[in-house]
Amino acid sequence: IKSKLPNTGDTIFSVMSALAAEHNAINLSQGFPDFETDPVLLDLVNKYMHRGLNQYAPMPGVPELRQVVSDMVQRQTGHSYNPENEVTITHGATEAIAAAISCCVREGDEVIIFTPAYDCYAPMVELNGGTPIFVQLEFPNYNINWDIFKKQMTHRTKLIIINTPHNPSATLISKEDLVQLQEIVEGTNMLILSDEVYENIVFDGNEHHSASSFPALAERSFKIGSFGKSLHVTGWKLGYCAAPAQLMAEFRKVHQYMVFAVNTPMQYAIAEYLQHQERLEISAMYEGKRNTFLKAIEGSGFKPLPSKGTYFQLLDYSAISDKNEVEFAKELTTKHFVASIPMSVFYHIPQEHHVLRFCFAKNEETLHKAGSLLKNIG
Ligand code: PMP
Ligand code: GLN
Repeated sequence: IKSKLPNTGDTIFSVMSALAAEHNAINLSQGFPDFETDPVLLDLVNKYMHRGLNQYAPMPGVPELRQVVSDMVQRQTGHSYNPENEVTITHGATEAIAAAISCCVREGDEVIIFTPAYDCYAPMVELNGGTPIFVQLEFPNYNINWDIFKKQMTHRTKLIIINTPHNPSATLISKEDLVQLQEIVEGTNMLILSDEVYENIVFDGNEHHSASSFPALAERSFKIGSFGKSLHVTGWKLGYCAAPAQLMAEFRKVHQYMVFAVNTPMQYAIAEYLQHQERLEISAMYEGKRNTFLKAIEGSGFKPLPSKGTYFQLLDYSAISDKNEVEFAKELTTKHFVASIPMSVFYHIPQEHHVLRFCFAKNEETLHKAGSLLKNIG
């Protein structure tokens, strides 16, 4: 058949994880924890499975979990979403992103995406007949240049995709940035997709700023989160979308025919688990892992860029090699047995900054081993 996505190959996460497995390398490429979640949560899944809650959940998600999401988002942002018609539980953030884009992007619409960008946005825009418009974050701080952004806006701009804490750069969108964005979109019909899957992972006393905290953004935003990230269970593929009723009604039309509903016992288990917690306190744990990784590479030729959130650390290898990022990431995996992700793949037009992304959501032992391997290079 004639491909609808002629320029899309296997996602880099599959490619690098396969290469890591083939060469028995420490896999710091694809972002997922190598440690277990709280056994209390596992016991709760077991409990609900044995209670017989094994059939279809309600299409928008089980009410208990939608209530928990609504409460958590309210505490985080001050914005209140009605669990009845403004919150939907999704098959990971990935499905939420696909449904949000599919319910609003039409043939001819333009969608602004900041690069480097997580890789699932642009293909979904294209599948829906839209055109991704890429705006580059400024290297090496990955700041948004709002003058450049404004020049890319047209009467066709339908959707703006933001992501904070940001994968892959590990930076945060500032309050000032969101105020800017609010001023820009006020009075327009532009919508916002706010990918906040790392909302609970922010370091060094910094704060996560959500689009939902700003009324003129909240009224036009799909706020998206992931229990996979927040509870260390990426394989469960459970997430959520919160949006104003009018947007959520359209979102659910897509969700109900994309997946209809998602895993029932796990939704009940997560709801009960989170009911007892004011906030998910995982930042300190991940900040500790970041620091362990940074300590483990001290004295190597790799130079760290600031990691302010997410579970990623960027390392500049320009003192070690002048190979391009893809080549060097492959060499690092096959010859030195540490897998990472080349940053160039997150750009529309590959940029070469000699920077790789490493995932530190790993046991201490894994991080120490990776550190000693990286110290032997150069
Ligand atoms: N957005 C970003 C920025 C991500 O890093 C990820 C996970 N890699 C997702 C969305 C997808 O999340 P999920 O695994 O819940 O589908
Ligand atoms: N979010 C993960 C990352 O950025 C990967 C998710 C995936 O494999 N699709 O590494």
